[in-house]
Formats: sequence, structure tokens, C-alpha cells
Amino acid sequence: MIVDAHAHMELPIPGVIPCPERQREPLGFMYAYQMVRFRNPLWRGEPPDALRAFIAAENQIRLSMGSKKNLLEKMNRAGIDRSVVLPVAPFSTSSSYLEQCADEPRLIPFSSIYPSDGWESELQKAMDSGCKGLKIHPILQRIPPEDSFYFNLLDMFRNYGRPIIAHTGEFNYFITPDPCSQYGDPLRFERLISAFPDVPFILGHSGLYYPQKAIELARRHESIYLETSFQPLKVVREALTVAGHDRVLFGSDWPESNQRYSVGIARKAAGGNRRLEEKLLGENILALIS
Ligand SMILES: [Zn+2]
Repeated sequence: MIVDAHAHMELPIPGVIPCPERQREPLGFMYAYQMVRFRNPLWRGEPPDALRAFIAAENQIRLSMGSKKNLLEKMNRAGIDRSVVLPVAPFSTSSSYLEQCADEPRLIPFSSIYPSDGWESELQKAMDSGCKGLKIHPILQRIPPEDSFYFNLLDMFRNYGRPIIAHTGEFNYFITPDPCSQYGDPLRFERLISAFPDVPFILGHSGLYYPQKAIELARRHESIYLETSFQPLKVVREALTVAGHDRVLFGSDWPESNQRYSVGIARKAAGGNRRLEEKLLGENILALIS
């Protein structure tokens, strides 16, 4: 069973209008990046400033392609059995994801909560209605990882015995420079992780441009799981060495990357070890949500 631990359906953030009619990925930097299997020979860390707006625009076009129908089609093509789908409140909501997943056992919804009056009952309703975990996204939600809201949220969420996945990695979603992109720094999540050692904490994208920080955190905290989207083979191998075979999860972040590449990298990282392949490609995430 192959399970993508990180995918989205609609994610209409500011600047992005859903365009599910679009089928082809735009041919830009991100396209080239996946073609070279996320090995970047040109620079280390975040992209140079001159490229920021181009990558943000390309990413927005990719996000616009998100829809249930498109995701299921891409899963068929990439040989993915199930995908964990992540709303990001307030742009997409737990209830709309739950509704769309109700008649589709191949899609596994998480919840997402944005501070408002009554967020507690919203979380309770989402979890009682079948959400299998929680997504937080400090950059898009404009909430620093150290903010008391996330501590209050986890204080309640811990009672469900489910995992949380956080977007990690500095990233500019917008054409104009975004100071909140720094909220993605993996190290800024450590206080939250330390405060709730009983909550399985998935680092989405394993820190993106700074995987060493995410891997270092996983070395320090047993509760951390590393999700592999946008990471090249070398990093996935290192993640497996440091975090062990049970704490690394294949993910793609579709529609922001094509599942075909991340699943290929994960398979290669397993290096013919059938047992490891089963765990990395599906069993590890299923163990957290069942
Ligand atoms: Zn995501």
C-alpha cells in the first residue's frame, strides 16, 4: 500500500484562484527541480532573490491545479493508493475536506484550525467527524511557531492521540517579499515539539531548503517524523540513517510537486530492502493515523 503523507486539494491562498481545468504543470524552475530529482547544483539554501518572484508565481499556478479530481487522476498515474490531504485554514477548511473525502476512501483528511471564537469546538467537530490529524502552516496562517495559539491548539489536540504535520522550510508563496517566510525555520518549532513529547510531530518537507536542521531535530526528539517532499535521495537516505526506518514518511506535497518523482526517490532510498520500502512508502504514516 503506497500512501502519500502530504497532498492538498483546493488551497486558494491570496493570489491563487482554483483552476482545476489546468492539467499541465507549468514549465519553470520547479519543473526543472523535480526533473533533477531535487538535487540543486546551482546554490544551497533558499533561492537567490532574483528568482523568488518567478518561483512564487510558478508555485501559485501549481496550487491552482489542486482539486479532488486532479489528485485522484495523478495518484492513478503515479501508482499511489492513498493520499493524506491537508487543508490550511482559513483558506481551506476541515469541513470542506471532510465533505470531499466522505465518498472517497483513497483520500485521508486532516484538520486545520485558525484562531477564531469557537475554534475549540471546531477542532472537536473535525476530529469527531473523521479527521486523522492536524495541519499547521505558520507562514500562510501568519502565526509564528512560538505563538501561544499553537500551544493552546496542541494542548487540546493531544487528547486525540493523532499526529500533527507542520509545514517546515522558509518559502515565499507571494510575488512580493514575505517576512513571514521565516516562520518556516524548522528550529523555531522546537519549543512546541518539546512541550508536547506525546504528540507525533511530522516535519513537512523535512525543512525544505534546510533539511539538516530538520534531521538534527529528529535526532534530538523521538516524537519527530520526517516527511520527504522536495528532498533528494541523499537527504532521504540520511533521514533514514538518523531517524530510523519507522520515522521517515514518503510525501509529495502535490500539486506543488509531481508524486511520480518523490515516490521514485523514496523507492530508491529503500535500496531494494522490501521491508523498508513498505514502511517508508505507506506503513509508517498508516501506523500514525490508524
Ligand atoms: Zn503542504
